[in-house]
Amino acid sequence: MEGLAKFPPRPTGAGDMFQLFRDGAPRTRASLVTETGQSRSTVAARIDALRSIGLLAPAGEATSTGGRPPSTFAFDPASHLAMGVDLGATHARIAVTDLAAEPITMIDEPLAIADGPDRVLTWVAETGRKLVAQTGREMEDLVGIGIGLPGPVDHRTGRPVNPPIMPGWGDSDVPAELFARLGAPVMVDNDVNIMALGEHRTTAPDVDDLLFVKVATGIGAGVIMDGHLRRGAQGAAGDLGHIAVPGPADIPCRCGNTGCLEAVAGGGAIAARLRQQGIAVETTQDIVDLVRSGDVAAGQAVRQAGRDIGSVLAASVSLLNPARIVVGGILAGAGEHLMAGIREVVYQRSLPLATRDLRITPSEAGAPAGVVGAATLVTEQYLAPSSVETLITAKEVM
Ligand SMILES: [Zn+2]
Repeated sequence: MEGLAKFPPRPTGAGDMFQLFRDGAPRTRASLVTETGQSRSTVAARIDALRSIGLLAPAGEATSTGGRPPSTFAFDPASHLAMGVDLGATHARIAVTDLAAEPITMIDEPLAIADGPDRVLTWVAETGRKLVAQTGREMEDLVGIGIGLPGPVDHRTGRPVNPPIMPGWGDSDVPAELFARLGAPVMVDNDVNIMALGEHRTTAPDVDDLLFVKVATGIGAGVIMDGHLRRGAQGAAGDLGHIAVPGPADIPCRCGNTGCLEAVAGGGAIAARLRQQGIAVETTQDIVDLVRSGDVAAGQAVRQAGRDIGSVLAASVSLLNPARIVVGGILAGAGEHLMAGIREVVYQRSLPLATRDLRITPSEAGAPAGVVGAATLVTEQYLAPSSVETLITAKEVM
């Protein structure tokens, strides 16, 4: 019984106690004593420590049951800034956010990733500085920069690995280059992972197990399990685009294999199929426009792509049992044709227990999802228990 009584484990340090505040609700010292089981003096000392590093602020007085009303404290996301950068093939978006990854100011401009790391990162640094200035804050308030790149990234080093659409970026030391220009820690991830984080934070924060699938010219997924982004050993988790589609498919893929999902159901594959039928399409956006205009052949091609994506997703559902699959990327703009194809096969091919409460929905977070997700890389790290403890220790030493 004693073992049971000790479960769940109670927060032990100030960093752990701070996690309680991340729901945004104000708390009194007395309620924290109840919530944590710590003594009143311990709680008071931890509140002081968290206030000293700016993460907690007074939040008014609670209603009193008689006598002086007790003070309340709450997470103060405005105490510092984070920066989220979302680099696509031909556009860039930067947001300066608070510590809740909520954008304060944002910019979206055409920018070719093919210009190479030197020009692109210089633009990021100059534009980022301007945005921080716009908020009326100092660069010292910036705790980190999260950046998403349109290609594979080695998570341990933050370096792009053989990125197909990023000439000149292979193995470039993005964290060091950007740190040298902005003076704050840098975290790098691929574009799908930051979209997954942004979608999760913006539209489904209560869903612990979520797959975000980007369907565009390429196909990829971000895997969120137990509320955390899962990258695998090297950062390659979620690379759905190069899983072989079941069935006879000898279509060559740019990765060197044949029958990959991306080669069968990506934007390029759908466009090629439509051209064979004599329909003039170039880009993935052309396909979306055709479907929206009611073109039957385009609608059918997108629906079949949805089925092919569904056949690979069905395996992911069996493996990971997500509660939600969110479908984003340009082709998600083709609407119900894509979603219907995906749903058809996932529900048919997965076991009832895995799909009982599974929802498959189009992305709702929209364009800012990437920058919010990139900023979330920073805030999650900065606000983690061990990081908060380190900040407090550093403050005490000063
Ligand atoms: Zn492939």
